[in-house]
Amino acid sequence: MREDVESIVGPLGFFRAKTEAIIKLSDQLVQKFNGEVPSRLVDLVSLPGVGRKTANVVLGNAFGVPGITVDTHFGRMVRRFGWTTLEDPIKVEAVVGELIPRKEWTALSHVLIFHGRRICHAKKPACGACPVAAWCPSYGVGETEPEAAATLVKTGPPR
Ligand code: SF4
Repeated sequence: MREDVESIVGPLGFFRAKTEAIIKLSDQLVQKFNGEVPSRLVDLVSLPGVGRKTANVVLGNAFGVPGITVDTHFGRMVRRFGWTTLEDPIKVEAVVGELIPRKEWTALSHVLIFHGRRICHAKKPACGACPVAAWCPSYGVGETEPEAAATLVKTGPPR
């Protein structure tokens, strides 16, 4: 059983810790939820290794319940867009929830996280290659020269 899980998550790195977490989580799903992934936030966050961020991803994608996923990328993006200056993920979630219609929350989370991973990095944002530069109040925090900026864009699989 352990070997089966390890063979699946092996390519991801930290596979022993991930295997351990998956086995614990699976055990709790069977013990507490009859082997089904629960569809309520309160139940999801009661599972080992599942925080509010992960729970919102599951709710949005598996159950169609709109959710805002405030990870490091999302938080940085909304601060660079000037939507908030807050750092606390729960407060950021509340502020963005007031600004954006609920039906857009899940898609917004994916788009901003993708943009943060690919173009608007924490240390070297590629402003000169950014498709939303014209609307971004933080344009210029990173490289603005287009050719140099294009070299900063990450095109591989997300990490
Ligand atoms: S213009 Fe620069 S700071 Fe603004 S979103 Fe694009 S990469 Fe980020």
